Amino acid sequence: MADDATAAAFGGCCEELKDALSGDDFEPLIAVGEDGVLYLSVGLIDLEDEEPGMVEHPLFFCPFCGTKVQSEDDVKAKAEASA
Ligand SMILES: [Zn+2]
Repeated sequence: MADDATAAAFGGCCEELKDALSGDDFEPLIAVGEDGVLYLSVGLIDLEDEEPGMVEHPLFFCPFCGTKVQSEDDVKAKAEASA
């Protein structure tokens, strides 16, 4: 979940992303997963017999300033390391 370490890991490019990751009064749609990959929530999905789930996609570029925050190789390596 969003915390200071998360903001430090991915919020280095601009205040907007830092704020988005460390938001206290809202549930961020940009968050770092348990595998250490930065994800963007792109929508909600209805799951049978369950609460609606979030559809997440790895985020490669900061949506605010355009800085590359992680590469496809980073994401692959982290996903494999946590698999
Ligand atoms: Zn940024």
